[in-house]
Amino acid sequence: MRLLFLQKEELEPFVSRLIAWQEVVGPKAKKNRFVFDKLESPAELRLDYDTTILPPKKYFFQPQQDLIRFSPEGFTGCIEPKPRIIFGVHPYDIKAISMLDYLFSDGKKDWNYLANRQAATIVGINVHQVFKTAFFESMGASIVTKGYDLFLTDIGEEGFVVEVATDKGEALLAYGHFTQVTPDQAQKRRKILYGQSDRCSQKLFNLPEEVSEKVALSFYHPIWEEMASRCFSCGACNLVCPTCYCFDVQDMWNLDQESGIRFRTWDGCLTEDFAKVTVQGGTENFRQDRSSRYRHRIMRKAVYLNSKLGGPACVGCGRCASACPADLANPVPVLNKIMEG
Ligand code: SF4
Ligand code: SF4
Repeated sequence: MRLLFLQKEELEPFVSRLIAWQEVVGPKAKKNRFVFDKLESPAELRLDYDTTILPPKKYFFQPQQDLIRFSPEGFTGCIEPKPRIIFGVHPYDIKAISMLDYLFSDGKKDWNYLANRQAATIVGINVHQVFKTAFFESMGASIVTKGYDLFLTDIGEEGFVVEVATDKGEALLAYGHFTQVTPDQAQKRRKILYGQSDRCSQKLFNLPEEVSEKVALSFYHPIWEEMASRCFSCGACNLVCPTCYCFDVQDMWNLDQESGIRFRTWDGCLTEDFAKVTVQGGTENFRQDRSSRYRHRIMRKAVYLNSKLGGPACVGCGRCASACPADLANPVPVLNKIMEG
């Protein structure tokens, strides 16, 4: 592992030179929340953010993405990756991106995602402020050791200890003034990354493996009906989630009725039409009830994908809890209640 040091006053010149070289996106303030957006100047960068409304996955797996253009002559792909630096990604979002990297590469590779992903350089940062509904400590997502190109640890007034993890990260060093790290600075970094626990107010009472085992056996638990009775099926909990990766594919025909475009949009398993399929001229919805959709989402996060991902498909970012208009998307109270019973 290669560690360097960047003084606080050197951050702005570094980001400024990166902006002049390539598109840089990072957390910016938007009213009383934060969003990942293109930086026009380093002053916009808010590394003290708690979390963003949407996760950085939107740059690889866009809310709407063109797939192919078709005409009587044939079809062409729409993969047009844009080199981009994503600056200031928290560990839980880095972990979520690593999950998507795996899921979009599993079996047939999804180049519409992977091309964007490969064109991106990820600069991580430790969490300064914990989001009110976050529980990333319970999901083992407060520290990551891979999935980024550079990782900055803010050690206070002095500046940042910078871990250089990949060749893409190495390429950024030419744009900043980095110095050798001292043993004292390296020690401060270790303390900040590994010595901080109990920062999240939301907690699971059990380990994710124990949760997974018990929740798998709770298919008929009354909690699904109880929670879903207040659910609007709006799908907001799906749309803000950094590990949700379902999509819907549609064709849009041009007026000539011969050519058009195929595109995909984010989809969410809480919405009523998600599991609706055409059957012999009619339709069948195999998760018609709100409770079955509510259960499916929680099972998907805590149980179904664990064998593929080696752990839960939730990183505890807390976005779903804050996005839910009915205050019932937070997995923590649901999982804790099932574990109690
Ligand atoms: S389920 Fe909720 S807390 Fe977990 S990763 Fe998705 S949005 Fe974050
Ligand atoms: S955000 Fe809340 S109300 Fe909307 S679908 Fe999810 S659980 Fe239901």
